Amino acid sequence: MPHDTPLIATIVAGLGLAFVFGALANRFRIPPLVGYLVAGVLVGPNTPGFVADASLANELAEIGVILLMFGVGLHFSLKDLLSVRAIAVPGAIVQIGFATLLGIGLAWMLGWSMGAGVVFGLALSVASTVVLLRALQERRLIETERGRIAVGWLIVEDLAMVLALVLLPALAGVLGGQEQADVHSSGLLSLPASYGIWGVVGITLAKVAAFVVVMLVVGRRVIPWILHYVAHTGSRELFRLSVLAIALGVAFGAAKLFGVSLALGAFFAGMIMSESELSHRAAEESLPLRDAFSVLFFVSVGMLFDPLSLISNGLPILATLAIIVIGKSLAAFVIVVAFGYPLATALMISASLAQIGEFSFILAELGVGLKLLPEQGRDLILAGAILSIVLNPLMFLVIDWMKPWLEARAARTAAPAETKPVGPATEPGQVASVASTFQKEDGPPPKTTLTGHAILIGYGRVGGLVGTALKEAALPFLVIEDADKTLAKLKADNIETVAGNAANAEVFAAANPEGARRLILAIPNAFEAGQIVLRARAANPNINVVARAHSDAEVEHLKGLGADTVIMGEREIARGIVEEVLGNHAGQKPVRDAMAEGAGAAPIALQS
Ligand code: AMP
Repeated sequence: MPHDTPLIATIVAGLGLAFVFGALANRFRIPPLVGYLVAGVLVGPNTPGFVADASLANELAEIGVILLMFGVGLHFSLKDLLSVRAIAVPGAIVQIGFATLLGIGLAWMLGWSMGAGVVFGLALSVASTVVLLRALQERRLIETERGRIAVGWLIVEDLAMVLALVLLPALAGVLGGQEQADVHSSGLLSLPASYGIWGVVGITLAKVAAFVVVMLVVGRRVIPWILHYVAHTGSRELFRLSVLAIALGVAFGAAKLFGVSLALGAFFAGMIMSESELSHRAAEESLPLRDAFSVLFFVSVGMLFDPLSLISNGLPILATLAIIVIGKSLAAFVIVVAFGYPLATALMISASLAQIGEFSFILAELGVGLKLLPEQGRDLILAGAILSIVLNPLMFLVIDWMKPWLEARAARTAAPAETKPVGPATEPGQVASVASTFQKEDGPPPKTTLTGHAILIGYGRVGGLVGTALKEAALPFLVIEDADKTLAKLKADNIETVAGNAANAEVFAAANPEGARRLILAIPNAFEAGQIVLRARAANPNINVVARAHSDAEVEHLKGLGADTVIMGEREIARGIVEEVLGNHAGQKPVRDAMAEGAGAAPIALQS
């Protein structure tokens, strides 16, 4: 049956090769995204062999952008967004201006027109959503103050690019391109040039405003209603489908009807959903798809890249890269520091924005279509994107490497910083959160002085109860926890904490596992817990490890890695239910005894 299946071929080749090269990269301790890019180059038109469909790959990557931004929206509230506007709006605007000037400078040196310079500079000024969000997610920074600033910044950039995309066709004539351009390279966003510049700006802003109003007024009622309705049907499949349909539907509708970017539409859909208490479920439902599609983003970028251009365009590529990695970072760094934020925050934000991606390609395409940007400009932008994406994880490594130095500096300036508010925050709560995230992520946390203690990991539904009992029994213990809110509660209760992800070596070491008597793992993720068990065993062979699990397979996994006792949550729930149901009956005892015998001994009826 010889029929053509370019979509399937593109997905299979993209995901398959990305997996192989991602795993290889991981093996050599390189970030997997480098592997994904290499996979893209291999299935691209510039290398021999199978060539995947570039435009299909691009569209698939857009789905990744939608799901990523949707996920971020789920963790965001309108309040969070407004709380960072004081830094994000001026920050993004100044940075865009500065990067555009540098771009114009380079364009001038290459002998291009002014218009070419503007398009080129704008393309270099906007960071990639996918790269930024993945970097933040990997480091669990999204829900911290600095993560929120970076996301707010990204959203302002996104809005600026929406404006740039509608304005360029209208301005093409003035800038020396094709007058009254009839270009549809970004069909979703283009407006007829005949409206004049202010008309185009006005209509665009009005559409964005209309979208926001529709979402806040209609979406805010309809979306939670749909979710609740579907949740009540009890069908998990329908629930997943509704989440996906809403995310994709709102994003696409936003782009088609209101000229807003897909990413921004998805972000709003997520933000509205985050107001419903079902949002956590919604977030989890969209995770696997999101990861798969954002991998395709890197593959599609790789496909556009011509390795030979590195030779033919060497110097201009280096200059482009310098603008992206050094010029933009410097601008962002200076602005964030000027606003009174700690150095570490400034560095983190600079690093996360020191790359370019999808928006830059769209701008470059439009510029070439309008005859504003020479083809060489597009090649430089592509090469700059690939190289800056590859270098991005390195930027974060450099920051990690600078941590001790920063910590020393922060310690030196700590005394005045306490009397002076950190950052421009005015609400007391905000100041506290800036200070606590600063303390949380900068440098290894200080090591505890406790010995013979218990290390309790996670202070949620399970750990909270365990902690209370330990406290009542007056046993020495400390808690490792990574959620800001929980940390604040622990502090209020005067319980010693180590802030951060317990799977992180430095964080765990600060809890003094060598000198501890017991390790209590009260976190739900058995894989993370397994890593921690291994680390604890290596540090202290005699430590007693009690862990939490949610399936027989997890019990096996944790025991295999050296946990002494593993408590399976569901079995304990069953125990409670059985006690409740049979508690007053004579027959209760055998059931209880059977379950008390431990793993695998529970009666079949209670297994799942
Ligand atoms: P619960 O499932 O309600 O018992 O909550 C689990 C708690 O563990 C939450 O408060 C999480 O913030 C926390 N937690 C989960 N994973 C980690 C980790 N790797 N390191 C530190 N805390 C964690």
